[in-house]
Amino acid sequence: MSLRDLSAVEQIAALEAGETTSLELVDAHLAAVEADDVEAFLAIDAEGARARAREIDAMPSRPALGGVPIGIKDALSTRDVVTTSGSRMLEGFRPVYTATCVQRLQDAGAIVVGKTNMDEFAMGSSTENSAYKNTLNPWDHGRVPGGSSGGSAASVAQRQVPWSLGSDTGGSIRQPAALCGIVGMKPTYGAVSRYGLIAFASSLDQVGPFSRTVADSALLLKHMVGRDPMDSTSLDWPGEIALPTATDMSGLRVGVVEELMGEGIEPGVKAAIEASLRTMEDLGATVVPISLPTSLSGLATYYVLAPAECSSNLARFDGIRYGPSVDADNLLDQYEITRGDLFGPEVKRRIMLGTFALASGYYDQYYGRAQKVRTLMVQEFAQAFEQVDLLASPTSPSVAFPLGDRTADPYAMYLADVCTIPVSLAGVPAISIPCGLSDGLPVGLQLAGPAFSENRLFDAAHAIEQAIAFDTRPPGLAT
Ligand code: GLN
Repeated sequence: MSLRDLSAVEQIAALEAGETTSLELVDAHLAAVEADDVEAFLAIDAEGARARAREIDAMPSRPALGGVPIGIKDALSTRDVVTTSGSRMLEGFRPVYTATCVQRLQDAGAIVVGKTNMDEFAMGSSTENSAYKNTLNPWDHGRVPGGSSGGSAASVAQRQVPWSLGSDTGGSIRQPAALCGIVGMKPTYGAVSRYGLIAFASSLDQVGPFSRTVADSALLLKHMVGRDPMDSTSLDWPGEIALPTATDMSGLRVGVVEELMGEGIEPGVKAAIEASLRTMEDLGATVVPISLPTSLSGLATYYVLAPAECSSNLARFDGIRYGPSVDADNLLDQYEITRGDLFGPEVKRRIMLGTFALASGYYDQYYGRAQKVRTLMVQEFAQAFEQVDLLASPTSPSVAFPLGDRTADPYAMYLADVCTIPVSLAGVPAISIPCGLSDGLPVGLQLAGPAFSENRLFDAAHAIEQAIAFDTRPPGLAT
């Protein structure tokens, strides 16, 4: 077994026991990062990572996260390390500060080895909207890793890092985790500071962990949460995130979302989810059907709200304040030509959709109405959580699809998030864990709970993980 096969928790234990050093861990992972068989990384900070590993190895006692490597989605600002959000608009951009959540992890002893590929400004479900390259699914190099945090997911599945950070606006942590056969967690909205996260749709954006085990997911989140004076929407997490120990689900009521188990869900995905529902029953849970009718309007609601917010957030990219700029005769031309040249097609589509939805005369009809549907959804989730402790559904309606399959059809791409978007709109936490295979490709099970029920989610997911014992090693990965 190589060091790269250890979970983060196991790597920290090996460090504590003096069986390895942080430098050894960083070197082992950097070799894989630099080989980058799945094109997961956009920037590598080998020098910085090694220097930090030596520093931590020299400390009289190790910090909580020991000196274990991590990959960071390129949407998160890292001081002096190029941060592009997958866009030409930020090519070569070196932020002057580090995102709060990354800083907290660094302070706790995580070592950033590099920045991972993503759909431009986090808009997409396959990472094919990256302005730089396609990332490959470690389970099948002809398929997408999901998105938008595809690089973060692929790097963990490929064992280039034990864990990584992604951001999730409508599904961008959970869906790529599902497609790559790993664990992805979107925390309660506000649990993790967004300071330093390049904004897409601020009322939905949340940072969260990718890992190969549920315990690693909990450990990483534990060190990220909490109020940050730099983000007024951040909240104190009530209590502490605990490492999961549960081995059963007795006393838990699980609601299976009927609307997300019907039309459009691939038969192989449905079969794997049904098998995991039986596992939950074996673990002592009561599984009941539950209806969330408004979830069927989730996609339509999201594709008004998210573009509206992005059209405003992306106004700052004008060629003057950040990144490169295209020269022109006057300022207006400079704005227009820079934005026309440096934004990719999906980003432009969203800015146009959002600008239209916010135009006076249309505002009530689109944005106002979408906000009302969102309120209904929040209420519907709250009512559901009076009846059940957790909601279960597939994470993605399909397994990983072939590269290029949906790039010509934005609507087909948008459908990838049909199961994750309602949870995002409701602002509640959810985790995706691998629950089986369909045609040799991983299937993700999504569990959602009420706000700040992260500990309950981790415990349930841990119990299921132990019972299913899914092998996270992609078939082609050499031992
Ligand atoms: N795929 C969705 C979109 O393109 C969600 C992306 C995300 O969560 N960042 O908007």
